[in-house]
Amino acid sequence: MAGTITIKNGYVFDPLNEINGEIMDVFIKDGKVVRELSAAELKNAKVIDASGMTVMPGGVDSHSHVAGAKVNAGRAMRPEDHYKANLQKTSLTHSGSGYTVPSVYKQGYDYSTMGYTTVFEAAIPPLEARHTHEEMHATPLLDMGGYLVLGNNFFMMHYLREGDMEKAAAYVAWMMKTHKAYGIKCVNPAGVENWSWGKNVSSLDEANIHFEITPREIIKGLTEINEHLGMPMPVHLHANNLGHPGCYAITKDSLKISDGVKTRQDMDVEWAETKIDPSRNRSVYLSHLMFNGFAGTTWADCESGVKYVADYINNKDHVVTDSGCTPFGEATVMTGDGPAIHDLYTLTGNKWSNTDVEMECGSGVLPFTYYKSNPVHSLQWAMGLECLLLINDPWKTIMTTDSPNGGPFTKYPEIMTWLMSEAFRKQTFSECHKWANDRSTLGGINRELSLYDLAILTRANPAKTIGMAHRKGSLGVGADGDVTVYNINPQQLDANNYETLLRTFRKAEYTVKGGEVVAVKGEIVSLPEKRTYYSEVHVEDEREKEMLTDVKEWFRYYTLGFANYPTPEKYLQNPTPIQVNVVR
Ligand SMILES: [Zn+2]
Repeated sequence: MAGTITIKNGYVFDPLNEINGEIMDVFIKDGKVVRELSAAELKNAKVIDASGMTVMPGGVDSHSHVAGAKVNAGRAMRPEDHYKANLQKTSLTHSGSGYTVPSVYKQGYDYSTMGYTTVFEAAIPPLEARHTHEEMHATPLLDMGGYLVLGNNFFMMHYLREGDMEKAAAYVAWMMKTHKAYGIKCVNPAGVENWSWGKNVSSLDEANIHFEITPREIIKGLTEINEHLGMPMPVHLHANNLGHPGCYAITKDSLKISDGVKTRQDMDVEWAETKIDPSRNRSVYLSHLMFNGFAGTTWADCESGVKYVADYINNKDHVVTDSGCTPFGEATVMTGDGPAIHDLYTLTGNKWSNTDVEMECGSGVLPFTYYKSNPVHSLQWAMGLECLLLINDPWKTIMTTDSPNGGPFTKYPEIMTWLMSEAFRKQTFSECHKWANDRSTLGGINRELSLYDLAILTRANPAKTIGMAHRKGSLGVGADGDVTVYNINPQQLDANNYETLLRTFRKAEYTVKGGEVVAVKGEIVSLPEKRTYYSEVHVEDEREKEMLTDVKEWFRYYTLGFANYPTPEKYLQNPTPIQVNVVR
């Protein structure tokens, strides 16, 4: 029976069901977790003996750059990245190459062998949605979806400036359906539009050129629309002034804007059984806190400001953030925040690509290496870990590298080990520039995360945050049969023995996807089909009609015809729309 399997006797870590290392069997039938299997089903089921091992739901990455124009620009501009990491073809798998920006096949296999089964692309420019879907389609093994970049979109800024929230909401709904996108991404609000004129914005209340709208108005408007429509996830915010000394202040002030906004997640889906409420309860999802967390005034006096933002998040309940850790080594920075990448270009002189995606958004790409000997890079390493260790409640944090910005996702095992092992952190302190210790609080933190905490940071909370916990991030009855088995015996876990942890996290013993074993000890063994999720958001037909009159009128300035704008479903593997805001 395909997709039917028993994972026996493992130590199970399933935070959405408050299961913390109990020895249990996990049963999966036809791809879904079930309470038990009948005697006949048991006879035919595949069995994994997980005795003495750690069992978690499949990994969920809620912020990674894996598909679309800027990722491909990174691949194209970095031949040197492709000499460094190669993958031979096998009778089952394609060949692949690329270390920080792997080819589509390689990235699917690499995520899968680490135990991940679900990855969401963090930024889809509307006009590049087809390209993004083509690459997601070609990425094997991973269930995927992506967030639509709307913070500097012509129509959004126009409607928000006019205060026409009905049309703005109708536009968001139509854009999600049209581009088969899942949630709202907002990058450097008002600033990216100014970048079309070679400028940026410097405060939350500075109106941008022509549209005369401020970052505060955009964040506020998008948050209200998001909750009005009942979107699966909060507005995903990449705050202004990213990557500059002192930026923590504007980050903290940006988070305050959505304080008090009532969350409303209105999805017509079947929810897997969980012990704790799997629906989302945050009104803002801040991306890569590390890059938004610098204090100081210049690169000479800069220090970590993560503690100030962490203090705020510890005292409030409307924020969730991912870390954007920088684990040292090669990276390729890529973001819709064009001016931020330009500033890095002027700092480094590295090769640089910059694109304006007509009137909708923009992006920049640049190769970057984080050195242990560099004071700022060392500080960034410490700050990334502070993001996950200074925020007390793990349900407010998600582990990422903002791949490949802080480093490739294949470095997750290092980050997991730093989080679990103070000894490993001390070892790294001894190798890197003293700024890491002198200008952050990391050296004084002796918190070591447990396997349960890690399961929250890498499975349960990313799924809950983005509204996928109805089927991902848990092993509750009805959840997708996505499971990771690590060869770690929690009874014999020794955080000082970090080499073993590193080795174990790099290659999951088993990765199971939809009840099928897809990877064993670093080898891909099967390639089942995957799904692509998007939000089909419902608004009144009249509202949509009125809004479309405006859009069609302006469309003569686009370089393509209106009929060619939408991404047809055939671009998606197993398109799985999530019905949002359905009138009942
Ligand atoms: Zn990102």
